[in-house]
Amino acid sequence: MGRRVLEKVQPICVVCRQPMRKDDIVQVDKLFDHFTHFNCYNLEKIEIKEIGKFGEIVMANNKYKKLYLVY
Ligand SMILES: [Zn+2]
Repeated sequence: MGRRVLEKVQPICVVCRQPMRKDDIVQVDKLFDHFTHFNCYNLEKIEIKEIGKFGEIVMANNKYKKLYLVY
């Protein structure tokens, strides 16, 4: 009966494999909803949904707030 509790994670950039920090400039792609560092980005064919500081993007979006830790 208990609600499943999701453990929050600190997302890892798929390009450089470094964790996202709150002041990192990142982008979110439309297709996978993945975070990638702006400077690491190398998948030019994927449409971008959002670019900004990781911490600000997460705090502005309830879905991300539930999923991601911000340090
Ligand atoms: Zn990166």
